[in-house]
Order: sequence, then structure tokens, then C-alpha cells
Amino acid sequence: MNTVIITLKKEISRAEFVAGYVDIPKFAGCCMRCKGYGRTWACPPYDFDVSDFWNDCSSVLLYGKKVIVPQEMLDKVYEPDELKKAYYGLLKPVKRDMLDELFDMERQYEGSTALSAGGCDFCEKCARLSDKPCVHPEKKRYSVESIGGDVVKSLKELFNEEVVWASDGRLPEHYILLGALLKK
Ligand code: SF4
Repeated sequence: MNTVIITLKKEISRAEFVAGYVDIPKFAGCCMRCKGYGRTWACPPYDFDVSDFWNDCSSVLLYGKKVIVPQEMLDKVYEPDELKKAYYGLLKPVKRDMLDELFDMERQYEGSTALSAGGCDFCEKCARLSDKPCVHPEKKRYSVESIGGDVVKSLKELFNEEVVWASDGRLPEHYILLGALLKK
């Protein structure tokens, strides 16, 4: 099964991104309603001020992957647990590879910070659930949304891309993972 993956990349100034695509209170509220809230060290609540991320950078390099769902998967109607398995099977390796690419960019741009697409899933069970420190701080990165970035609006206005969802047991035509590199 061949999966088509398209890279999305666009750099804009910090001022433009913060003015148009950052809403910290809105996304703090969204995170509080998420079932992952407080379950990993890469998700809120945080013991730092998320606005520091935006204040400390000069530009935002948005970096994402659009994953075209193969036709044979689109043709199938999934039971709820199968749908979840198909979703993770398709996206998890793409998310890992994308974060590796962002780590390479971090090394390339001194003082930069990578943001991931979605929560941290490096460990089977996050150490936060046992009240222990993160065991892979070198791999843990916060997601764009968790520090107030509006991924859906960024995709729509900056890439002309729509976020679409699974429905009635069917996968959507595509998924989009959007991370970023905050450059010093
Ligand atoms: S790397 Fe592991 S311990 Fe650290 S935040 Fe991610 S899941 Fe939790």
C-alpha cells in the first residue's frame, strides 16, 4: 500500500503569526476539555508561561505533512476500534519522521525550538501519570495548539488546506499534521 505524503512548509514573522494565529486562552480551554489533559508532560497544565515561546522567537516556520489516505482504506467501513487502529497505523510513523526532521532543523538553527503535531506519544505510559519526571526530555516537544497556536486557521489561511475528519466509520480523504520550528 503506497501512501502519498506531501510536505507543507511556510515561514512567517513572529508578529504576523501571533497577531493572526495565536489565541492562548481559547486553546487553553480546548486543552482542558481534551482527554489527554494533564496526562503527559507535553500537555497542559504547564508550570511556565506559554507566551514566552512566542515572545522568544523572531519567526515561525510552519512544517507539516499532508497524508493522502490510500483508496483501499477509503473503501472500507471500520468498527470504532479498527478506525482508531487504522488512524494510528497511518499517522504514527509520519509523525515520528516529521519530528525527526524538525529535530534536524533545531540543530541547524541555533536557539530554535520545535513544536510537534499533537501530544507526545514516545512512551507507552507517560511518566507524568506516576508523578515522575519525563524520561525522554530530549524527545518531548509541546504541540502548536498546546501553547496557543491555531492549527486549523493556519492551514486554511496560509496553506489553503482544510482539516477533515472521519465519519460513519470511514476515514477522510486526507489527514494533516502540522508542527513548527520557532526560530530565534
Ligand atoms: S517522552 Fe515519555 S515521559 Fe516524556 S512527555 Fe513524552 S510520553 Fe511523557
